[in-house]
Amino acid sequence: MADPRGFLSYRRADSPKRSKTERTHDWREVYRDLSAEEQLAQTREQATRCMDCGIPFCHSGSAGCPLGNLIPEWNDLVRRGDWSQASDRLHATNNFPEFTGRLCPAPCEAACVLALTPAAGGAVTIKRVEQSIADVAWERDLVVSQSPGLATGRRVAVVGSGPAGLAAAQQLTRAGHEVTVFERDDRLGGLLRYGIPEFKMEKSVLDRRLEQLRAEGTRFVTSCEVGGSRPGDLPVQRLRAEFDAVVLAVGALAGRDAPELPGRELTGVHLAMDHLVPANRECEGDGPTTISAAGKHVVIIGGGDTAADCYGTAIRQGAASVSQLDQYPRPPDDPDFDVSPWPTWPWILRTYPVHEEAGERRFEVAVERFIGDENGHVRAVALRHVRVEKDRETGRREVIPISDEVTELPCDLGLLAIGFTGVEDMPLLDGLGLVRTRSGSLGCGPDWQTESPGVFVCGDAHRGASLVVWAIAEGRAVAHAVDAHLTGASQLPSPVHPTALPLVAP
Ligand SMILES: Cc1cc2nc3c(=O)[nH]c(=O)nc-3n(C[C@H](O)[C@H](O)[C@H](O)COP(=O)(O)OP(=O)(O)OC[C@H]3O[C@@H](n4cnc5c(N)ncnc54)[C@H](O)[C@@H]3O)c2cc1C
Ligand code: SF4
Repeated sequence: MADPRGFLSYRRADSPKRSKTERTHDWREVYRDLSAEEQLAQTREQATRCMDCGIPFCHSGSAGCPLGNLIPEWNDLVRRGDWSQASDRLHATNNFPEFTGRLCPAPCEAACVLALTPAAGGAVTIKRVEQSIADVAWERDLVVSQSPGLATGRRVAVVGSGPAGLAAAQQLTRAGHEVTVFERDDRLGGLLRYGIPEFKMEKSVLDRRLEQLRAEGTRFVTSCEVGGSRPGDLPVQRLRAEFDAVVLAVGALAGRDAPELPGRELTGVHLAMDHLVPANRECEGDGPTTISAAGKHVVIIGGGDTAADCYGTAIRQGAASVSQLDQYPRPPDDPDFDVSPWPTWPWILRTYPVHEEAGERRFEVAVERFIGDENGHVRAVALRHVRVEKDRETGRREVIPISDEVTELPCDLGLLAIGFTGVEDMPLLDGLGLVRTRSGSLGCGPDWQTESPGVFVCGDAHRGASLVVWAIAEGRAVAHAVDAHLTGASQLPSPVHPTALPLVAP
């Protein structure tokens, strides 16, 4: 039985970070390495704050965790010091808790009943407890390979090795199918590898999990574009002939551009991923990045994870200044329950650790144009104050200038982090006879099957650019659907339906 008064005994305490000076001079994760005793004691206190609510909104699915993580159960196991059972209960619903423990924005914490009482310290630090359980489990060798079930003799191809593809592959291998993951990049992991920087999740965390998948029997083929025609690629005819089912986990990697923005063509103006991918490659030992922020005035357009990752990367590369521009108003620091009532995802200012390090964020501003020098290199951006208005009928947003004043901000490196438009154009789609929806994603029926029989879809490719936790949830759900398709019925869990959406205020 949990301690119903634990939250009155202990204050919420997030994971302590390393000093700004220390962490901005290396690429390691921003959080402090705690001694084993400190980690166990602090996590135990935080887990003790959980009341084991009668209706635990934290794991409800729609408002809380899409994976249905059994949060009050493992909080109580940690409180009692039973880390082994806690790891079992955590892994029962989540293939990769060490990824979500580090990366998830934690809708579970927004939905925690204690989020309603900031005066009592606010939500349980669910994400911190999750990461600790996962890390302790790895340290104590509690994460072991699971032998697959009885071999079914059925072969499944998973296209794409991001979190969605990896979750689907692990579930299907464990169900006894012969699974091969095809990845066109030279290394595995999708955005976990070449999008998300080391300072948010060190790649060794990904590599040790990949070793577990290999040991369980999942096969991996890298530098192989499915549907491509270069040497080493897998043509669609072979894909169809050699596999009984196909899972498309190809992501939504088409970056949104702004070709109409004057000066976009100047040297030094790039899409965010053009900056992040080579920076991640440099950390992997592939040699210096082609787009470094060293000594430059960096201007990042856009909000969200991608913009914050460019921000932290630019600081670590030694930028002279970093500015992040957002056309929307600055959100409040605390939730306004009239605007976004609990337990919906609150509209608040999302401050990432990198924003505390250096640089500035500006709100309600838009770039009118990039200004070039005599060599065609960007040297500044012209900014205007704006207001964004939403048309009630069409839902379209219009950016309206609210002042005649135009200011200049120095800029030697301009980065567009303004989102993704969906699945990239690739020969695989034509080969399978698939057409993207208006939002750029790949549609499916209630069983995750696309219009091409035996071809299933999950993750960002289906949902549009989203989150790691949704990718894992969809990967698990698609595995259930593929298993049922191949064998007639499935015992695998299916945490989300293809139409599931996070609970947000209208
Ligand atoms: C910069 C950045 C930072 C982010 N930070 C966070 C964060 O902090 N927290 C969070 O929850 N989410 C974050 N996200 C979102 C998260 O990374 C994605 O939602 C998640 O990775 C989607 O997983 P996925 O498996 O669907 O696709 P992806 O991770 O995009 O993987 C798709 C893979 O498919 C491969 N592929 C595509 N076509 C083919 C083909 N024809 N043949 C073979 N392989 C193919 C691609 O090379 C890629 O490796 C971030 C996203 C970005 C861009
Ligand atoms: S809502 Fe918060 S306090 Fe209640 S069970 Fe979940 S984590 Fe514990």
